[in-house]
Amino acid sequence: MKYQLWINGEACDARNGAILSVENPATGEIIDTVPNAGCDDVNMAISSAKQAFEDGRWSKKTPGERAAILAKMADLIEARSEEFARIESEDTGKPYNLVSMGSDIPFAIDNLRFFASATRNMRGSASAEYTTGYSSILRKEPCGVAVGIAPWNYPFLMAIWKIGPALAAGCCSILKPAPTTPRTSLLLGAIAKEAGLPDGVLNILSGDNETGALLTAHPDVQMISLTGSCRTGKAIMKSAADTLKRVHLELGGKAPLIIFDDADIKKAAEKATIGGFLNSGQDCTAATRILVHESIYAKTVDALVQATKDFTIGSPFDADTKIGSMISHSQQQTVAGFVERAQQAGATVLIGGYIPERSGYYYAPTLLANVKQDSEVVQEEIFGPVMTIQSFKTDDEALTMANDVKYGLASSVFTKDINRAMRFSRELMFGTVWINDHLPLSSETPHGGFKQSGFGKDLSAEAINDYLVTKHVMVSL
Ligand code: NAD
Repeated sequence: MKYQLWINGEACDARNGAILSVENPATGEIIDTVPNAGCDDVNMAISSAKQAFEDGRWSKKTPGERAAILAKMADLIEARSEEFARIESEDTGKPYNLVSMGSDIPFAIDNLRFFASATRNMRGSASAEYTTGYSSILRKEPCGVAVGIAPWNYPFLMAIWKIGPALAAGCCSILKPAPTTPRTSLLLGAIAKEAGLPDGVLNILSGDNETGALLTAHPDVQMISLTGSCRTGKAIMKSAADTLKRVHLELGGKAPLIIFDDADIKKAAEKATIGGFLNSGQDCTAATRILVHESIYAKTVDALVQATKDFTIGSPFDADTKIGSMISHSQQQTVAGFVERAQQAGATVLIGGYIPERSGYYYAPTLLANVKQDSEVVQEEIFGPVMTIQSFKTDDEALTMANDVKYGLASSVFTKDINRAMRFSRELMFGTVWINDHLPLSSETPHGGFKQSGFGKDLSAEAINDYLVTKHVMVSL
């Protein structure tokens, strides 16, 4: 199959003929090519989205009409979900079973169905007489042309997180997937057309970071939504400042998982390893910092090592595989570099800490002990299957250590004490706090960060609200 850009309802190559190679990171083989969109493609995509927005071919449809088209898209994706899962697994190196049955394709379909139904439940917040002789109406309107820029760790899911709320709000959307994982996103254009989405409303540009920079600098774009690294978030904010675009940033994380002495240690260890190693730890909400009460430290370390042994590395298409490859050689080397530097700084490797001898870009699930709170491995996002373990004496100390990072995306607490759980859910400075679990998300609940993990929410009705602007209409009576 030939993968092409999707501009104004048609598939096309990049105007300048540029391409990107797609590598299967589980084998290291080049498996495909896609267009690398350049300046002309960016201009055409934005101009078609602008035209579609201005003539109201999408925003003036009734919510019911918009919902029906988005729901049809979800049905069409579901009918081809095995194909989506296979391509996604080839592009990312993650286990096919995880992609086809878990957090990737089925969850993305559910998200799109949620956004379809939420389209019909948007309301202006007030209509009343606040000034004598005048009636005020508050209208929620789509903000315009919205660019969505996605990362490589959940490529299709992130594509839906970008286009779902934008289209539900009535915006016209341009999606740029990550350069390494573009193929499932590129399938969406033809599916949207088959579902009845008018031409120009959704445009999809595979491309490198330069394509992203061209999109974010363009004056006809009203909003940029990025899921990606803090570095890219800062670059996009600076670029967006020149044309005063609104920005919506879902960035990195460094989630603490706190285990108290009243917790079920075995359950906590199992949840911690799932939270830390699923998707090879390439998850912004991954449990990366395990904080354990000192009285149960030894027992918990044993349970964590035992649970880590269950994480079998293997080919993405083997049924027993729990951990696939990293996304790329460079990500594998980045992870290895973090672990080497941690060891030089005094950390102890309890399990893992090596590159398995096999083709592809794998890294063994790794537990590190004897790490200092201010060390690189505790403070910086690694984005690989590496967890640190630290002990604490008091609740206050646990809270201070948990909050002492620049990130604020996700966190969790394992305890049977309801008062402690409520205190921590209030005082942890993270966008999500799980009690006695780590990782699950739902379409209806908002996902997004505090501090340098960004701002704005993905998922839920709050995500749609981020793509809406409020207009005040004041009527003289
Ligand atoms: P990245 O920042 O390198 O790239 C993300 C996207 O931004 C890609 O499509 C890339 O081409 C584009 N891009 C890069 N530079 C750009 C620029 N100057 N202008 C415009 N676009 C540009 O991130 P990544 O390595 O693909 O993904 C991993 C990161 O994503 C991690 O930091 C992770 O924590 C984060 N992430 C966050 C969430 C969340 O919900 N908060 C979810 C998943 C991933």
